[in-house]
Amino acid sequence: MKKLLILCLSILCSTIMMAQETYLHCGKIIDTESGKILTEKTIIVSGNKITGIADGYLQPKKANVTMIDLKSKTVMPGLIDMHVHIENETNPKAYLEKYTLNDADVAFRSVGFANVTLKAGFTTVRDLGGTGVNISLRNAINQGRIDGPRIFTAGKSLATTGGHADPTNGSRKEISGDPGPKEGVVNNVSDAKKAVRQRYKNGADVIKITATGGVLSMAKSGSNPQFTIEEIKVICETAKDYGMHVAAHAHGDEGMQRAIIGGVKTIEHGTYMSDETMELMKKHDAYLVPTITAGKEVAAKAKIKGYYPDIIVPKALAVGPKIQGTFARAYKKGVGIAFGTDAGVYEHGLNGKEFGFMVEGGMPAMETIQSATVTNAKILGMEDQLGQLKVGFLADIVAVDEDPTKNINTMENVTFVMKDGKIYKK
Ligand SMILES: [Zn+2]
Repeated sequence: MKKLLILCLSILCSTIMMAQETYLHCGKIIDTESGKILTEKTIIVSGNKITGIADGYLQPKKANVTMIDLKSKTVMPGLIDMHVHIENETNPKAYLEKYTLNDADVAFRSVGFANVTLKAGFTTVRDLGGTGVNISLRNAINQGRIDGPRIFTAGKSLATTGGHADPTNGSRKEISGDPGPKEGVVNNVSDAKKAVRQRYKNGADVIKITATGGVLSMAKSGSNPQFTIEEIKVICETAKDYGMHVAAHAHGDEGMQRAIIGGVKTIEHGTYMSDETMELMKKHDAYLVPTITAGKEVAAKAKIKGYYPDIIVPKALAVGPKIQGTFARAYKKGVGIAFGTDAGVYEHGLNGKEFGFMVEGGMPAMETIQSATVTNAKILGMEDQLGQLKVGFLADIVAVDEDPTKNINTMENVTFVMKDGKIYKK
């Protein structure tokens, strides 16, 4: 027995000692906490964590250390996108797909979307709604079966009957049925509670509601309020019981105000946000997730004849181009900004375009990077593990060829990606 114990201990010790170490020689490194760029540092990674950061280009004293030369690059923590739909990607047949694709089809397809997202430098994403395949995708990535970003998922979004995320919008009546809280459709406070608990049971990490109409749903209004304030309050209170925060899709001002007062943490898009609502956001410590890229892409695609169904086109042309202007006003007014792009509404992997659009809207380059790292880590409750290059943090590390404070468009071309200590692109 004693011999066995000693054997076990020695195996354990040698496993710990053998944890592969990687030294990254970094020419420039972004301190996302202070917003400063530091030069000539060595980041030491052991297992899935950052275990040291040293001045200069440190040479290892032992053998078996992997050396990574990033001396000509700018290195920063893995980027976080707070709004993606990893299951889907825009295409002219998208509206037919909900009748033709099985979950397995969606799943196989999403593997590729997860992969390009990770390779674009986004090591963490918040998935704000799909069929629920996104929950299995998250699990498969966490188990190391496929490559993809760390996913915090809403599973299926919550809507009201006929609302933006009612899964049967636009269907003929024989097949539309009457979805309820189990399917994510609520029409009173009791439904609202059940729908949140059902998402928890299904394995969701966050709750997403569609507080107003939306552009891409088969419905007339893109901005009307769709939940009562009582329903939103119950959703937020119930979500809190299960350690989840609530994100609200919102274009119209009235729906946005109800969502903020009801207790949501983030407002997605925020298109028609009034000055009064911006003040309300600040008072309630809510963040705007701008999704400027999606706005521009949707407006561009609406000009291609037949790309979207007719009912979508006028909404896309009206809403899409306004989003960047709203972001600019909100930033100037001091509203908290959480980087998020709505990837899936446009092609996955182009998430980095958002940085340039935010800079165009008046936000300094360094602040856009802080938004995509420290700010988003805090909203996800991961501020002691993600969003900074710091000893003890998870080794999510990316690099670009140029200094983004001099050329923000370099963020569209991430050339080195490490997640959880493993290199995916170099
Ligand atoms: Zn979305």
